[in-house]
Amino acid sequence: MAEETIFSKIIRHEIPSDIVYQDDTVTAFRDISPKAKVHILIIPNKIIPSVNEIEESDEQLIGHLFTVAGKVARAEGIAEDGYRLIFNCGKNGGQEVPHLHMHLLGGEQLRGFGF
Ligand code: 5GP
Repeated sequence: MAEETIFSKIIRHEIPSDIVYQDDTVTAFRDISPKAKVHILIIPNKIIPSVNEIEESDEQLIGHLFTVAGKVARAEGIAEDGYRLIFNCGKNGGQEVPHLHMHLLGGEQLRGFGF
């Protein structure tokens, strides 16, 4: 089984976090170090370390991450003006936490990617 990260503790409410949405399969919470006015992480409750480990049997779950992203964006009032969804993968992608997570960034005009 994949190693737990701090995100598993967040899912289980064992450490404080600002959870904005949670159901049986997905949790969304505010990033501790926001890179935009709205910066929320949307993660599967099940541990998938990165995009590299997504399996076909996970496809419904991955789709659900996007449904939740739209729901959270609407709840945050940023849906109409737009936002950005990012998955970092591995070292070169800048992934720090090996528990798959979608970054939802918005609430202001975002700059380019800078690379
Ligand atoms: P990555 O660089 O892996 O794509 O993104 C990891 C994100 O998790 C970072 O934006 C970082 O600020 C956030 N993060 C790391 N530890 C914690 C934590 O304990 N709580 C919360 N809410 N966010 C965290």
